[in-house]
Amino acid sequence: MNPEQNRRQCAVCEESEPSFIHTVSNSGVFRRLCTDCLLREHREIFCPVCVDLFNGCLPPDDGITCVNCPSIAHRSCSPPPSSFAASSSSVTSFTCPTCSDPNFSFFPKSHVPSSGNGTDGSGTLLDEKSAKALVAASKIAVVSMTDAAAMLKEEAVKKILDAKMAKMRAKDALGNLQDIVLRQKDSENSNPNKRKNSDR
Ligand SMILES: [Zn+2]
Ligand SMILES: [Zn+2]
Ligand SMILES: [Zn+2]
Repeated sequence: MNPEQNRRQCAVCEESEPSFIHTVSNSGVFRRLCTDCLLREHREIFCPVCVDLFNGCLPPDDGITCVNCPSIAHRSCSPPPSSFAASSSSVTSFTCPTCSDPNFSFFPKSHVPSSGNGTDGSGTLLDEKSAKALVAASKIAVVSMTDAAAMLKEEAVKKILDAKMAKMRAKDALGNLQDIVLRQKDSENSNPNKRKNSDR
């Protein structure tokens, strides 16, 4: 109802008053997301264990991809082979924290739905991991908005160029038309041509 309030609402989980809200652009569409949802949506660009951003370059052989989602963790961050996979020499499968635990969140919601077991209220204090998640989310949002700004700029330049091209094409067309008209006049006045010759 109140647009002011909606502006603070996460577009994904619809949490109405997240402690932090980030604006991101998804191919030109601006959305507001809470820290947790933002990180979930961009899970392929950071390690879900240490919450380090890959900074544009995906981890090469150094990364291990979650079996359920595009999330990639540093090989060093992924948990050691679990008991059932003990026989296989290397780490073959990895399930990211988000996929392995349905209650996992990168960042605590300000209003924990139901349960309310422990740590309620004093949500202003961030543990180190949450703080790191917040920094990562902010960085992602900034990059996304920078990209969006660049895209908008590119689009504007393209539009200007398009307009220029259209103008030039119109001019060309007009020129052609004038040519045709002149040529037609020429052929109509083929006789005066003779007169011109005789004038000499
Ligand atoms: Zn959310
Ligand atoms: Zn890591
Ligand atoms: Zn996953």
